[in-house]
Amino acid sequence: MNKEKLTLKKENGWLKLNQEQINKLEQVAHEYIDFLNNCKTERECVQYWENVIENSGYKCICEMQNLKPGDKVYYINRNKNILMAVIGNEPLVNGINLIGSHIDSPRLDLKPNPLYEDNGFALLKTHYYGGIKKYQWVTIPLEIRGVIIKSNGEKVHVSVGNDPSDPIFTITDLLPHLARKQMEKKLSEGIEGEDLNLLIGNYPSDDTDKEKVKYNILKILNEKYGITEHDFLSSELELVPHFEARELGFDRSMIAGYGQDDRVCAFTSAKAMIDIEGVPNKTCVCMLMDKEEIGSMGNTGMESNVLDYMLVELAVKLNQYVPNILNKIYLNTKMLSADVDAAFDPTYPSVSDPKNSSFLGNGMCLLKYTGARGKSGSSEATAEYVAYVRNIFDKNEVAYQSGELGKVDEGGGGTIAYIIANKGADVIDCGVPVLSMHAPYEVTSKHDVYMAYKGYRAFYN
Ligand code: MN
Ligand code: MN
Repeated sequence: MNKEKLTLKKENGWLKLNQEQINKLEQVAHEYIDFLNNCKTERECVQYWENVIENSGYKCICEMQNLKPGDKVYYINRNKNILMAVIGNEPLVNGINLIGSHIDSPRLDLKPNPLYEDNGFALLKTHYYGGIKKYQWVTIPLEIRGVIIKSNGEKVHVSVGNDPSDPIFTITDLLPHLARKQMEKKLSEGIEGEDLNLLIGNYPSDDTDKEKVKYNILKILNEKYGITEHDFLSSELELVPHFEARELGFDRSMIAGYGQDDRVCAFTSAKAMIDIEGVPNKTCVCMLMDKEEIGSMGNTGMESNVLDYMLVELAVKLNQYVPNILNKIYLNTKMLSADVDAAFDPTYPSVSDPKNSSFLGNGMCLLKYTGARGKSGSSEATAEYVAYVRNIFDKNEVAYQSGELGKVDEGGGGTIAYIIANKGADVIDCGVPVLSMHAPYEVTSKHDVYMAYKGYRAFYN
């Protein structure tokens, strides 16, 4: 056997693509960039896919009395998760082909009572969501997106900052001239959580004695949305970067944008789901989850029973329900936990083992395990299951590489993989390498985005 076949090489996959593949790759990349610009909150992602699948023959599972192979159904949980299924020919107890990703991304949320006036400025207090480096979120343009629900149940949609005619918001920082003490602090303490206050106004109202600027803001909000200060309590308003997703580099080989962890895997897996051709053997399920960045807890996170509910609904409506059916389905289920990996960064090589890091442009990344320091807290895929996934990718010309989240004793991180693995399914983390993960502007490779789409599609078929 020659050396080429005997040895494993880490290599950039662009040169292996022919022009037809590159055309398809560019099409997927541009659709993805458009998705990133439209969808900056979990609710917006759910709305996006609901619109897409309603035009692709999917029906809400609540509308279906009976199901048969080939049927396409979805379930939306609290406007923040969407699960889609294509019914396969084999019974559910043979297991399903499942891909799960998450559509929540690190950001700043408003506190329940956020609005205040300080020295003639109106500001909003925030509580950051997910693991962020706080200094990255000051002095950048921020949009406010989300919903406010009044106590009578009326829902108000808010999106300010995206439209070019909108105003924008920002969090201020000290000028270097006066930052001597701040600059001596540790990077993690230079900007603290309670410093992340959003600047929203400086114009006083003339019909009150004090808090004139705050009062003026409340009048504007009341005129525009019909809300009072009390209504912040029942709102979900997210501050997200006003950065346009764009092609990156003179060679346009990469994509820069906010929220690519994990909307890159959500986009590619949902698109793969919609492009399933014919009736699959196994039932295929694609789920876009919420709350991954803060531990997957709660009724819209992976720890909830929403997938169990969906599977039981499918079994009942397929007339396949038997006692203990969930355990039986899970034991035979194969899952890709579709989440991003920390790619090797040439400026910060010391945190990675280059032989086991994923690289931008080398294809989608398989992580046999996550965790760190003795694989602590990790869900590890079996060798048999890794071989199964490799085989699918090899047969379908999907470029892939292995990855590890940093050096053994460096850091680590988790995904939703362990939650489904704990139920008995075979699960492996499998996603797109990202630079600057969790920053307001993250970087991926178009090549890897395309390979993720191809890989997820091959897994379903
Ligand atoms: Mn993630
Ligand atoms: Mn993350």
